[in-house]
Amino acid sequence: MGILAIGSVAFDKVKTPFGSREEVLGGSATYFSLAASRFAPVGIVAVVEEDFPESEVAFLQNNGVDTSALQRKKGKTFRWEGEYETNINVRRTLATHLNVFADFSPEVQEKHRSAECLFLGNIDPDLQMAVLKQMKRPRIVACDTMNYWIEGKPKSLRRMLSLIDILIVNDEEARQIAEEINLVKAARKILAMGPKNLVVKRGESGALMFNGVSMFSAPGLPMENVVDPTGAGDSFAGGFMGYLATAENTDEATMRRAIIYGSVIASFSICDFGPYHLGKLTNAEISKRFEEFHSLTRFDSL
Ligand code: AMP
Repeated sequence: MGILAIGSVAFDKVKTPFGSREEVLGGSATYFSLAASRFAPVGIVAVVEEDFPESEVAFLQNNGVDTSALQRKKGKTFRWEGEYETNINVRRTLATHLNVFADFSPEVQEKHRSAECLFLGNIDPDLQMAVLKQMKRPRIVACDTMNYWIEGKPKSLRRMLSLIDILIVNDEEARQIAEEINLVKAARKILAMGPKNLVVKRGESGALMFNGVSMFSAPGLPMENVVDPTGAGDSFAGGFMGYLATAENTDEATMRRAIIYGSVIASFSICDFGPYHLGKLTNAEISKRFEEFHSLTRFDSL
């Protein structure tokens, strides 16, 4: 097993300037695992309701996601409702119903404990920590979170930050964690809390990476067919971790390429509602989009 991820498997209600959908498959673990599975084997630790549709589980499995640790519990699957403004970078969460996640106790199966890469997807930091504690010695531990947990579980989040290698959050979350408006200062404060690398997702403006020594900036690919940015952050993290799982080390050049692979997968993720089209992505499409990112930023210095 290359990558293990904990996060939500959800049903989302989403409204964007281009349309709306209800009860669409979503969740941080869903988007992450579909993106990461384009590169490496990935398993998920999550919980859903007892009569969660078999077709959704089969969709994940058919796309290389190991769902053997997906628990089924009495109650309802996690539900999230969000709305995007005309400026698609601005999202309002209208409702978060933890449901079966409220008393979830994650169990990492023996076969998953030696996974090389661990992704602690956006979910209660206490659950993220419970998974981390059961792992043997992952080579790379990355983590995502959001305002819901930054406000609701600040102490648990701080404890977790001291134990991870890479934090992947958006700019608003970075500012909120650091309690600092300036992003460069916020990055310095966050790196002092523990992670060796901070990746800041900036929606259509791309992504930044800080490691205390250098900064890297990836552009957002200008696109005509943006429909729903839900899951873009998790798809980014999936492409990023997926590539790292295939790489021999985490030197600067490798980390920079991983940022671009994350951006590549995120750019596909936003073209439709739900995660289904991620399953159809081919290696040729991924390589072609990687080259588009390369040519978008290439220039001569003289
Ligand atoms: P992203 O757009 O990458 O931030 O991810 C959105 C996905 O995260 C949606 O599919 C939601 O179901 C899920 N999500 C939203 N809020 C939470 C939360 N508080 N905890 C876990 N997952 C969430």
